[in-house]
Amino acid sequence: MPKIDLEVRKDINTNTPQEANPTSFAGLPTSFVAIEPCQSYSFEEVYQTIRQLFSHLGGLAQYVKSGDRVLLKPNMLAAQAPDKAIVTHPTVVEVVTRMVQELGGYPIIGDSPGGIVGGIQRYWDATGLTRIAKRTGAQLVSFETSKMFRCSSNGSQYYLTKILQQVDVIINLPKLKTHNLMLFTGAVKNMYGVLPGYQKTEFHKHAPHPQDFAKVLLDIYQLSRPHLHLMDAVVGMEGDGPSNGTPRPIGYLLASTDGVALDTIASYLIGFNPATLPTIREAKKRNLGQTKISSNVSTLQELKLNDFKLPSNFLLQIVPKPLVDIFKPLVWVRPKINEKECTRCKTCIRNCPVKAMRLDSDTLRIDYKMCIKCFCCSEICPAHAISLEKSWLARLFVNS
Ligand code: SF4
Ligand code: SF4
Repeated sequence: MPKIDLEVRKDINTNTPQEANPTSFAGLPTSFVAIEPCQSYSFEEVYQTIRQLFSHLGGLAQYVKSGDRVLLKPNMLAAQAPDKAIVTHPTVVEVVTRMVQELGGYPIIGDSPGGIVGGIQRYWDATGLTRIAKRTGAQLVSFETSKMFRCSSNGSQYYLTKILQQVDVIINLPKLKTHNLMLFTGAVKNMYGVLPGYQKTEFHKHAPHPQDFAKVLLDIYQLSRPHLHLMDAVVGMEGDGPSNGTPRPIGYLLASTDGVALDTIASYLIGFNPATLPTIREAKKRNLGQTKISSNVSTLQELKLNDFKLPSNFLLQIVPKPLVDIFKPLVWVRPKINEKECTRCKTCIRNCPVKAMRLDSDTLRIDYKMCIKCFCCSEICPAHAISLEKSWLARLFVNS
């Protein structure tokens, strides 16, 4: 298949900073979240399940027309094999790619992983996307090397990949995982990848508290305007996600036009009270995500996993901040380096937003007085050499 001409979409004026859409994208009085069981990543099962999900939403043809350029945005956080459950499974990406092609659309697959090590090709190869692109003729694009456009939301400026302006439809393909900083990562958090390069760590520095970082995530989610969300929850991640947790079979695929509604349902299914999650709370303040959520499943409670392991930081984040401040010296969770696993690659040093890490005579050290507990180092370490350490009192409160 020839390369797709990525001209700028005619309906977007790129000369002026783009403002965030202040309302929900759903355009519906009640957001609908479709859930279907899916027990494996066999192509046939995933294909039939996604077909069913899209039919609940009126069919993919409602969103994709012949000739449309369609950006598929998977989670490609790390150059790791799909069975580690860090990235969106390539079979999910392949099925959506083929469905877009069946409608005469041109699929483009892109992401910008945090702290890239060894070039983007390594990520495409490891996550199975190179194979998918070869098999289907879909185009892989690197947000890292794409041009950017300036936009603003709530007084903050962002430089997002220009690919967003060069496509007609955006389909978000998040992976359901826990997240040490934000507790949960799904549709809203997945769109953070449209922010290329080191900007990602900079925003951690300027918004270290999860509730402030949620504002950044919601800004980017609103600015990027995804049309459709399909979540891979066949196998998710529990514990210390998004990259150091444990793969956990969940057995569902979910879809919605409303990413906040989708995250609300998905986080509920794995045991969170969605109202305590920073992104959902910020979304509600912005009237994003409809408060009345309907789904094709009548008994959500029966689908709920009651033994899903939540991240180490979980209780510390839902305890009122003044209380945490009082007990700070006794209750803490912080990154810890496993010297034996560390390859001294310095990826964490380059990506620490406050420069709290350094190599000292071949020993990697963290200055805990400087550390803002963003856990970026743990998230991006290619050797999984940074785990989370809890104080004895934190261990009493947090599941271990
Ligand atoms: S902790 Fe991980 S990212 Fe940091 S230097 Fe060691 S291997 Fe590299
Ligand atoms: S040491 Fe790790 S957790 Fe601490 S600020 Fe740096 S990247 Fe964030």
